[in-house]
Parts: sequence; structure tokens; C-alpha cells
Amino acid sequence: MKWSKARRLLCLAELASACLLPEEREGGHVARSGNLHTRDNGKAIGTGDRFNGGKLFPRGLGSGNETDLSTILNVNEVNSALQGLAAEYGFETFTTPYQTYEGATISGGKVGGQGTGNDAYHIYLNGAIHARERGSSDNIIYFISDLLYANKHNTGLSYGSKTYTNADVVQALNAGIVFVPLSNPDGVAYDQSTNSCWRKNRNPAAATSDSTIAIDLNRNFDFVWDLSKWASSVRSSVASSSPGSEVYHGASAFSEPETKSIKWVMDTFSKIRWFIDLHSYAGDILYSWGSDTDQTANPYMNFLNSTYDRVRGRTSDSTTTGYGEYIPQADLNNIRNVGTQVGKAMDASTGRSYTVMQSAYLYPTSGASDDYAFSRHYTDSKLNLIYGYTIEFGFGNNAASCPFYPSDSQYLLNLQETNAGFMEFLLAASRVGLSD
Ligand SMILES: [Zn+2]
Repeated sequence: MKWSKARRLLCLAELASACLLPEEREGGHVARSGNLHTRDNGKAIGTGDRFNGGKLFPRGLGSGNETDLSTILNVNEVNSALQGLAAEYGFETFTTPYQTYEGATISGGKVGGQGTGNDAYHIYLNGAIHARERGSSDNIIYFISDLLYANKHNTGLSYGSKTYTNADVVQALNAGIVFVPLSNPDGVAYDQSTNSCWRKNRNPAAATSDSTIAIDLNRNFDFVWDLSKWASSVRSSVASSSPGSEVYHGASAFSEPETKSIKWVMDTFSKIRWFIDLHSYAGDILYSWGSDTDQTANPYMNFLNSTYDRVRGRTSDSTTTGYGEYIPQADLNNIRNVGTQVGKAMDASTGRSYTVMQSAYLYPTSGASDDYAFSRHYTDSKLNLIYGYTIEFGFGNNAASCPFYPSDSQYLLNLQETNAGFMEFLLAASRVGLSD
């Protein structure tokens, strides 16, 4: 794991390896930088239902995998895997109250935890908010599969060179985990059926043509969502009000059923303290803030203070020292500490090298899920403090038609790394603290 200023600066120049392709950064659409002359769409998508409508349950790599991993889980299989796991291990699932444009529901499960009711859950893992980032749902489903199998059969867990004991498994589960493996079902279904490198959801409300359909869900959260609050020099980078853009932020904050669903999970499980939104493929563990450089000295200098509208987000402008996003030192220590442990575990599992850094160093954003999670207790003091992360697994597939589509070998490496990272996240978060 590297974590140096040099690497941060390199990242600014290395946008090709991030969640957005370079040509998508300034509001553009399609014109992919992937290998357009290849028919290689990476690892194939599963065509059947390997869990037989929830009668069978998955088992991941860490607990002596017995599930066929030769294809990526299709949308139907993510749901049948969830039902199969719930039946085998006896946990509750939930469905959020919002239906997507195409009528899909968004479901999750809650496992482990100490105490009763929804207050027993302190961790939230969210997958597949960006449709084309293939393997995101799989990483979460197979991790939960491993954790529950290992707990039931006392096997411990092993991800490449990273191993965990039965005691670790029990401690990890005690944190109480809420997971939503597929938060953008319409987008993923479309991407899987078209191989179109599709990022957004499928809501056509603002569209004037096929190419202007849909909203970037990870710009639709209520965190400095209003672009008039940003300097014109950074406005087109943090999000876009143009429906054709890959970062179109929607008609209003939380206009979309998918982002409403994620907010609903945070509201319903009101003691969540630690949140991961799982993306690909920058090879990064990113922590708040994503709006500007973190600073610990001036509490009044923060995203709620309109005095600083128009100077926020100019992190790459070396002549600007007028603004940094406030984070208390103790929170900065906690969020960086846990992120660093996650990165080390991911590195140790396979030997690849992840970068841990503040998300604004990748590129400033508005309306992103991790910042929204961390901002909630500032806008309403009755809400719980949530430490939010964006983890971008993997390093891309330049041989594929879309670089977000992993090869067979990349898929398995991603699975090992994210699952070791999740395990470490649960343990490190438990050490730092799950409640006030
Ligand atoms: Zn993403």
C-alpha cells in the first residue's frame, strides 16, 4: 500500500484508472476509451440461477468455495443468493419502500449484531450503485456467505495470504452488518444484457434521446448537491446538470428511488457507524471528504457555510489556500486508521497494491454517498455519525470492450481482496468503536 503525496498527485493525472473514464470527466457521454475493436466483454454473465430460486446458498472463496464461480452473478441470482443465505442461516431480509423506474425492488439482509432490533447493526455494505462495475454484488454476496459459513462450521477464513480465526469471525459478526448487494438493479440488468459499459440507472425522466437517459446515482445524494454552490471552474467536474452527462445529478437531491433506498437504510438502521459504498476500479480506499482538502483547525469552514460557496473544491489549484473541509482531528484519525488497515489487508491477500487516501484527491465530487453518510450528523445532530468510504476494487481490464468488465482472473483477485478488506473493516471498526 502506498500513501504518499506523490501518489496523490499522480492520481490527479491518472483519471483513466478511476470510476470515470477521462472522456466522461467533463460531462461527455460514451466515446469509450476501452478497446472498441474487441468483442471481449470480460468474464461472462451467468445465464441460469445457480441458487435455484433460493433453495441453494452460495459459499465464497474464504470458506472453501463450493459455488460455481465461472460466471458473474446475474440480477436474478443476486436475489436468489440472498434468499438462499437467509434460509440456510436464518437471518432477516428487508426490501426498501421504493420501486425503481422499471419496477424492481431493492433488498438487503442483516446479519450478526448484539442486542435487539435495528439498533444492533453498526456496519453497512452497499454494492453495485454503478451498473458497469461488474463483480460488486458478487463481492458482497460471497463475503457474507463466507462469514456465515465460517461462523456455523468454525472454519475460520482464508483470502490468499490473509487468514482469520474463528474468534475473528465471531467478533466481525458481532458488529452487526446490514448489506445491500445490488442498489442499482435496473442499471445492472441493462448493462448485463447490452455490454454497453452503462454507469447510471435507467430513469428517462429528463431524457430527450436514448443517449440522455438516466441519472448518476452517486451524484444524487444530498451533499452540496446544488451546483450553484460550486465555483464555475470546478462545477463541471463535481457533477453535471446536463442529462447527457455520465455525472448527471438528477432533478433534485434524492430524486431517485435507488438513492432514497440507501438513505432509508441509514434512517432505518439508525446506529450504523461505518459505511462502505463498493465501486471499481481505481484500486483505492477513499475516505471523506470528497468536496475539498480535509482541515482540522477551523470548524466554521465547512460545507454548510455559504460564505465558502464558490471556493470549495479547488483542490488542484495550488494558488488557492482559502478553503478546506472541516473534519475533527479525532474523526480524521479514526477514518484514516480504519481505511489504512483495510488497505493493508487487501494488499496482503493477493500482493497487489491499493492506495488509501482522502477522496477529494481523486477528484472533487458533489452528491456522493460516502460524503452524504458522513455529513448527516452535521445537518441533523439527532442522526448518528457515520464514517463513509468509497472502495474502488480492482485495476481495470484494458483488453475488454469496457475496462470495468473484469477478466476471469481479475474477478477472483477482486473477490479475495475485497473480502479480506471487508473482514478487516469489521475488525478495525470494532476496535475503534461501533457507538458513542
Ligand atoms: Zn463507481
